[in-house]
Amino acid sequence: MTTPDVPDLRTLLRAPAQTPAQTPVPAPAAVPTPVPADVPAAPAEVPGVPAPVPAGTPAAPAPVPTAAPEDALAALPATAPGGFTPEQARKDVPILHRTVNGHPLVWLDNGATTQKPRQVIEALSAYYGAANSNIHRGAHTMAREATELYEAGRTAVAEFLGAASPENIAFVRGTTEGINLVAQSWGRSVLQPGDEILVPVLEHHSNIVPWQLLAKETHARVVPVPLTPEGEIDQKAYADLLSARTQLVVVSQASNVLGTVPPVAEMAALAHRYDARVLVDGAQAVAHMPVDVRRLGADFYVFSGHKLFAPTGIGALYMTPEMMGAMRPWQGGGNMIESVSFERTTFAPVPHLLEAGTGHISGVVGLLAAIDWLRSFDREAVTAYENALMTYATQAMATVPGLEVIGSAAERIAVLTFTLAGHDPASVADWLDRDGIAVRAGHHCAQPALAHYGLESAARASFALYNTSDEVDQLVASLRRLQAGA
Ligand code: PLP
Repeated sequence: MTTPDVPDLRTLLRAPAQTPAQTPVPAPAAVPTPVPADVPAAPAEVPGVPAPVPAGTPAAPAPVPTAAPEDALAALPATAPGGFTPEQARKDVPILHRTVNGHPLVWLDNGATTQKPRQVIEALSAYYGAANSNIHRGAHTMAREATELYEAGRTAVAEFLGAASPENIAFVRGTTEGINLVAQSWGRSVLQPGDEILVPVLEHHSNIVPWQLLAKETHARVVPVPLTPEGEIDQKAYADLLSARTQLVVVSQASNVLGTVPPVAEMAALAHRYDARVLVDGAQAVAHMPVDVRRLGADFYVFSGHKLFAPTGIGALYMTPEMMGAMRPWQGGGNMIESVSFERTTFAPVPHLLEAGTGHISGVVGLLAAIDWLRSFDREAVTAYENALMTYATQAMATVPGLEVIGSAAERIAVLTFTLAGHDPASVADWLDRDGIAVRAGHHCAQPALAHYGLESAARASFALYNTSDEVDQLVASLRRLQAGA
């Protein structure tokens, strides 16, 4: 393999962005497009599984469902307004062309993690093949280049979220770490005994447990905000729970278990009237809808790269300038200091204050590539497509005898959590897996939300832009076969 030369990489670093910036942040660097690299075009063969089909090869035809959900078939338009079709995304994602248990993979576990386009895979290879260096501290060319890439990632995230400046963004491992960071860096110095943190029953454990730990430490209180029978946050109860004691309201922009999309902007506006801060968990939202943190009124916004077609181990925290000023060191080490002596240590400004140690540089490169990939599509059209797919899937699932979808909020992302009469969720997931269909079963790290429906466990099909109505048909056909005892 020939090593890509530095001038190529530098050109790539300085190339203009594909999409005009939404906000007045400096122009982002382009994603490092692939250099000749030894990235396998298709995933490695998995023991016991037929060899994967090379990338770019059309997926094998879907098996014909034993019983098509006739009522549902008309619901999905061939293309979403704006012209988006899932094939535009599918062709870029090699893993979607592999087989599992002898069947073409149907990946419906996007709520857990998303699959990666080759642009992300190749960006990682290009980085390690031509640009690997530690950042910030080196005085050589490659350290400067890696630093440029890392900061280009920060700029891309700022633009992607509609932040005013890259400085509003700190890199973290993911949503969980971002929330813990806010709890430790902000919450510990701000919360007083008797203060309250409002936490909807809908939340993922990552947006419950850190607040419980913080409340224990500070003698504050975690106050659950109840749900309606439909699985929406009870807005009347929320308004009644807000008070001068409320320091923080946390809320997911989209629920990982019910798909509910709460009225976050309205909730934030109400919280601000009480001078409370608002943390928005964007883990499930970022891949499915355009985000504008300032329009949402978020004081903090967190997300995980791996749910956005980027690698695991990288995510981002957005903070308003006011919250930036309120952050305290939460982990100590290199990169987060100005100077260290045994008499006096001084600290770097936010966001570097929050990024002790060597960051996940290649993760940032992958995140940059993923954002650029997503931005190559019309986001509104993608959302419209996913909404249409969700309508189609909801109608199709209704044709399965004994299947009950959990939650029926008016606004939802494409997540269908369900139970199937006569079968426990784990055996449903196991059955589907035999047909190459990946869904998750369990408590989905949202035990309080499931308990609201008297459940401990459920199966979940969660969709992304590359999923098709054919895949919905395969899911429904497989479930119907299970119910038919086939
Ligand atoms: N919040 C929500 C709504 C989630 O769905 C998830 C993961 O499923 C998380 C937080 C935690 O994300 P991570 O495990 O990437 O930190």
